[in-house]
Formats: sequence, C-alpha cells, structure tokens
Amino acid sequence: MNTRRPAGVTLLGSTGSIGVNTLDVIARHPDRFQVIALTAKSQVEKLAEQCIRFQPQYAVMADADAATRLQQELRASAPDVQVLSGADSLVSVAAMQGVDFVMAGIVGAAGLLPSLAAARSGKRVLLANKEALVMSGTLFMQAVQQHGATLIPVDSEHNAILQCLPDDYTPGAPPRGVRRIMLTASGGPFRTLPLGKLANVTPEQACAHPNWVMGRKISVDSATMMNKGLEVIEAGWLFGLPMEGIEVLLHPQSIIHSLVEYEDGSLLAQMGNPDMRIPISHALGWPQRIVSGAHPLDLLAVGKLQFEAPDSARYPCLALAISAWRSGGTAPAILNAANEVAVQAFLEQRIAFTAIHSVIRQTLERCAVHEADSLESILADDVNARATALECVGSGRAVTAS
Ligand code: NAD
Ligand code: MG
Repeated sequence: MNTRRPAGVTLLGSTGSIGVNTLDVIARHPDRFQVIALTAKSQVEKLAEQCIRFQPQYAVMADADAATRLQQELRASAPDVQVLSGADSLVSVAAMQGVDFVMAGIVGAAGLLPSLAAARSGKRVLLANKEALVMSGTLFMQAVQQHGATLIPVDSEHNAILQCLPDDYTPGAPPRGVRRIMLTASGGPFRTLPLGKLANVTPEQACAHPNWVMGRKISVDSATMMNKGLEVIEAGWLFGLPMEGIEVLLHPQSIIHSLVEYEDGSLLAQMGNPDMRIPISHALGWPQRIVSGAHPLDLLAVGKLQFEAPDSARYPCLALAISAWRSGGTAPAILNAANEVAVQAFLEQRIAFTAIHSVIRQTLERCAVHEADSLESILADDVNARATALECVGSGRAVTAS
C-alpha cells in the first residue's frame, strides 16, 4: 500500500491541450496526485468545470474580470476554491509550499516567469512550455541546478530522448557515450503540398495537424517547422549539445518520437502512438511507469516507417531558428517573439502563411542581440522584437514570400 501523501500539482495552462491531457492522466491516479492550482487565460467555463471536478485550492485567471466571473460560476459547487488573477498569481501558485510538481503548460512567452519561478523553488518542472527555455536557457538551467529542481521535458521528442539516455544523465550536461541525438518531425500538414500553393493556405488548414491534436500556435509552428527549430534549441539546453550533435529527421508517421545515437553505433528510439498522455505520464510518474490511458502501438497496423531530410525551401523557419541559436545571447528570444507575433497575424489572416518566416527574418535583421544573462535583458529584447515584428506585419513588406 502506498502511504505517501499524494504529490501536490499546479497546472499552468490547465484548459489547453497539454493541461487537459495532464488532468486526464491525473484523474487515473487519485492516490498519487492532488491538484493544488489550475490556471487559464480566458476560458472561464472550462476552468470552472475543471475546478468542480478536481477541487483545487486555487484557480488563477489572467485578468480580474474573468476571475470575478469564475468566482460566480464556482459559488455553488466549489466555494472553497480561492480565485486569483494576474501574472503575479501565476508565479505564486508555481512557487508555493505544498506544490511538488508544476506542469508548465502555458503557451508562449507568457509562461516564462511562472515556469522559471517553479524551477527557482526547486519543484519538479514538467516542461511543455518550450518557449520559456528558448528565451532564457542559461537562466533556466542555472535555476534548475542552483535550486535542486527536477526538470523533465514533456515535449514528446525531448521526453523520448530522456527515456533513451543513461540513468545518470543530468540536465544540461552532455550525456555519457552519446554521439548525437535525432529529433523527429512529422513535417506538418503541408509536407507534400506543391510549394506554389503554400501562400494561400488558411489557418484552419495549418491547424489541422495530420497526427497530433494541439493548440493553434504550436500547430502553425509545426506547419512551418519553427516548432522543430524551437525544439533544436530546447534540446541544446536540456542535453548540453552543440548544433552538430542534433539532427532533424522528417518522419511523417510520428511513431518514433526521437532517437539517441551512441558511440558504439547503437541507435535507441522511443516509440508509441502520437498521444501526449505518454510523455505526460512519464514525467508525472518518473522514475516509475504509470498508466496513461494511451492505446498500445500496433506495429502491424503501422506497417512502414518513413524518414526524409527536411526541405529547406519548404521550411525556411528551421534555418532561422538554427541561426538564432548559433548567434546566442537574446537572439533566440527575439526569434521566439517575432514568431509569436507572426503566427498570431497569420491566424488573424493579416499575413500569408509564407510571410511568417519573412517577418521573423526581418525582425532578426533589425533587432540588436544582447547577452541573455538577466531577465531584464531578455524581456527588454522580447518587447522590442514584438514591436519590430508588428511593424513588419503592418508595413506589408513581409506579406510576400521571399
Ligand atoms: P493551448 O493553446 O492549447 O493552451 C495554452 C494554455 O495556456 C491555455 O490553458 C491558456 O489559457 C493558457 N494561456 C495562454 N496564454 C496565456 C497567458 N497570456 N496567460 C496565462 N495563461 C495563458 O496550447 P498547448 O497546445 O497546450 O501548448 C502549451 C505549451 O506546450 C506550448 O508551449 C507548446 O509548445 C507546448 N507543447 C504542446 C504540445 C501539444 O501536444 N499540445 C506538445 C508539445 C509541447
Ligand atoms: Mg514536440
């Protein structure tokens, strides 16, 4: 019998795709996990339903109006939930006593401060919010090491790599005996679309990922392969590898989630159906294995696995990300900010799909890069890059593909 108290969990971004999948796994293990805090940007009704089901101590909305509406929704069925609002409250529920695990499931730069707060408070950080690490890799990894946090990637590729590494791997240090790692990528919904048609694709088409159901921003990132670019940077920080030690491989079936090549020529892969509950349950249960709810993989039904090199003409964002990673300093934060602005503009149909990379490239050309040794410096360059990217969107210069 398990006599330990359940682990207290804060879910940052509980109404999103990662958040919902995490709650699905948690609900299968009521003896292991207790939800302490749930947070959302604006989906009051969805957060209210989650609060009624999981009865957390805290619920956080991004703004005060939404928090008031949530409080009203909870008055009858979950009156003990304390409703808070604002970015400071996100930091509080990520750092507070009684919280053992923090799922960093907010999308974009908005997740940086609470994810970092969780690391600085020595929590087990289940990292889905790759943008936080891309923006502040040095600070984030320092926080993990200095405050004894446990960093477990939830991104399926990085979680796969972790599963293929020796047990004594420490985050940020090059793993023993590893020659290189290979990140797999599905190629998104436009992998075989004639290049000439890319300029006219719609947000709905871009968000219809062939294998994964995800939030809209990461779905567009998958279609441009900026997602893989961000993941290369994420892998660099997590596994202490230079660019030369990381390869990107197109694998349209999304069955192999990534691979590790050892010096003896062995190639270890983690496989499974494309279901985020697998990496999430690995991160929640680690070092044990727990039930996730995912269907077992039927290899006979899969039949064949394909691999291709990514086409740089189809996916120019990948090269932009690699070049920002090589530049170092705040260049990845500038890249990330410009990408967030460009993707939002595409989703709002203000620019074409093929203009996303032009906005990012122009922003990188126009913004000065600084040392990424303080939050102030990173956040200042993030703000500046957003303003610059917005100008590029507005000027229309970026609208044509180049
Ligand atoms: P999503 O859009 O479905 O959900 C985002 C969550 O963040 C929501 O709960 C939303 O309310 C919250 N949020 C958004 N902006 C906020 C703000 N300004 N302040 C406070 N909360 C805010 O996104 P998702 O697909 O769940 O992705 C979340 C993160 O996980 C992203 O960084 C993504 O790259 C990463 N990730 C997702 C998947 C996936 O399968 N969905 C896989 C790997 C990595
Ligand atoms: Mg991924």
